[in-house]
Amino acid sequence: MMRKQIAAANWKMNLTLAEGEQLLNDILSEQYNLTAQRQVVFAVPAPYLFMGKQKIAANEHVYLAAQNCYSKKSGAYTGEVSVAMLQSLGVTHVVLGHSERREYFQESNQFLADKLNIVLEHQLTPIFCCGEPLAIREAGTQNAFVAQQLEESLFHLSKEQVLDVVIAYEPIWAIGTGKTASNEQAQEMHAAIRALLAGKYGQETADQISILYGGSVKASNAVELFAQPDVDGGLVGGASLIADEFKAIIKALK
Ligand code: PEP
Repeated sequence: MMRKQIAAANWKMNLTLAEGEQLLNDILSEQYNLTAQRQVVFAVPAPYLFMGKQKIAANEHVYLAAQNCYSKKSGAYTGEVSVAMLQSLGVTHVVLGHSERREYFQESNQFLADKLNIVLEHQLTPIFCCGEPLAIREAGTQNAFVAQQLEESLFHLSKEQVLDVVIAYEPIWAIGTGKTASNEQAQEMHAAIRALLAGKYGQETADQISILYGGSVKASNAVELFAQPDVDGGLVGGASLIADEFKAIIKALK
C-alpha cells in the first residue's frame, strides 16, 4: 500500500476572512487528481475554520486542519480551543508542535504529548511537527535532536495510535527563510525518522506513516523534494498563500 501523499497549507496568522475565501475559491477552482492516497489539507486560522468547512465541502480528499488546540477537554481556559470544538466544526486534522508554537509559546515535548493524546482520543489526525534549529544542524546533532522530540512526544503511543499520526519534518533554519533543505538533507532525515519508527513499531507500521517535509517548499522545488522516496508531501507556509504556487505544489504530489 502506498502511503498517503499530502499537500498541507499552513496559513499561519495571515489573511482576512475575505482574502481567505478568495484564496480557497481560487485553489479549489482547479482540477486535481486527488484520491484517498493523495490529499490536500488547509490549516487555516481558527476564526476561519467555519468558512473553510463550507468551502471544501464539495471537494473529495480535501481536509480542514486547525493550527493548534489545547490539551484539556473543556473548562476554564479562556481563549483556548478544544478538540471537541474543532470536531464539531468538521475539522479533521490538527497541526501540533509547529516550531513557532514551540519557540514563541514555549510548547514542550511533554505538553505536545498531551495534545497528541487528546487529538487521537477524538479520532482527529495530528500533523506532528519536529525539526532542529540551525545551531543543532551546524553541530551535526540533528538526528539525535529529532529523535528526542519523537521519543518524548510520540513514542508512548500504541501502534494503532501512531498509524493515525502524520509527521512533518521542518528544519527550523528552512522555515520562512527561503532556504530549503536539499533533497538529500530532506531524504536523509525522513529516512532516519522512518528508521526510528521502524525500531519502535516495526517496519510495516513505519512504512505506512506519512512524513511531510516543511521549510520553504514552493512550486519550483516541490517536484524534486516530493520525489524523494521517504518524503510524502509537504507542509507549506509562505507559498500556500499564493494560489498559483499552492496549485502547483498540489500537482507535485507523487
Ligand atoms: C511552515 O510554516 O510550516 C513552513 C514550512 O513555512 P514556509 O513554507 O514559509 O517555510
